[in-house]
Amino acid sequence: MIDLKSMVLPEMEEYFRSLDLPRFRSKQVFSWLHEKRAASFDEMTNLPLSLRQQLAEQCTLTTLVIERKLVSQLDGTIKYLYRLPDGNHIESVLMRYEHGNSLCISSQVGCKMGCAFCASTKAGFVRNLTPSEILEQVYMAGRDTGEKISNIVMMGIGEPLDNYENVLRFLELVSDPNGLNLSHRHISLSTCGVVDKIYDLADRDLQITLSISLHATTDSTRGEIMPINRRWGIKELLDACRYYTDKTHRRISYEYALIAGVNDSRKQAEELAALLKGMLCHINLIPVNYVREAGYEKSGKGQIYAFQKALNDRGMNATVRRTLGADINAACGQLRREAEEPGRE
Ligand code: SAH
Repeated sequence: MIDLKSMVLPEMEEYFRSLDLPRFRSKQVFSWLHEKRAASFDEMTNLPLSLRQQLAEQCTLTTLVIERKLVSQLDGTIKYLYRLPDGNHIESVLMRYEHGNSLCISSQVGCKMGCAFCASTKAGFVRNLTPSEILEQVYMAGRDTGEKISNIVMMGIGEPLDNYENVLRFLELVSDPNGLNLSHRHISLSTCGVVDKIYDLADRDLQITLSISLHATTDSTRGEIMPINRRWGIKELLDACRYYTDKTHRRISYEYALIAGVNDSRKQAEELAALLKGMLCHINLIPVNYVREAGYEKSGKGQIYAFQKALNDRGMNATVRRTLGADINAACGQLRREAEEPGRE
């Protein structure tokens, strides 16, 4: 089956040409898929019936099914467990902020990266998401809530730069003026540090915000908790980040999950400030979420604020991330695992 919803307009035109269909039909179908968000070919009433039938036979519409939906009583955060057409599961989380709704989306089913503290990687990697499956998470959340999604963060399940081509296609589709038309400035992409792709992304000069999951200040600690660091060390990663900022003039956001006794000492705060000194950056401190197999505990409140203060005292812009959806376990990766292995906690 042809995945129509993953095609950018020129590709759809090419496909329609191969079917000997007039070019204007591709624009009509693109608009049905991405602007009017039709759930079936039957809805595409300005197409001749025969064409609707032909498309229904040859193409899929890539729809997701909401298998579970948890709504936080505390702050209205919504966590979706979606079932994909092949029966696999992914998660998205809708967070409500004063400046609008922000949706955290997945890029893969599972993850290969093996970060020691992360739930998404524990059950291994299954497959990449297609561009339409990434996009449909956004369309579904919009349809379900009837609300506008104003920001997207690619911080759900998976490593976006390990599914690079499909993620680039998604970025193109989501910002298409004939679709959601969401500016790249409202999209953040988080990576554990796939250095070659950071250079490539820099050369494309997209206006997205890059987030780097740093989490440690020395190669020995980072290599222990993040296997990617054994391929590209901290220096190589930060060189790539400097190149990214030079090219795009965009401020990079560094994620630092505070784990008690692992990376939260005063000395490590000083090392972090020294590493990022002079860079156009923001540091996001996140008390680590407890994942059973990982066994890491979050740092205490006092330790977290002392870490932040040590950074601020050295002129670094660092904030502690507010916890949203605490009552629905909104951190990613956990619902999918329950769905794949019923009976788990
Ligand atoms: N693969 C990408 C995006 C997905 S993870 C990346 O690594 O950046 C999104 C963010 O959540 C990353 O910063 C990741 O390191 C962090 N994260 C993963 N598990 C976590 C946990 N148990 N507690 C706090 N943050 C976690």
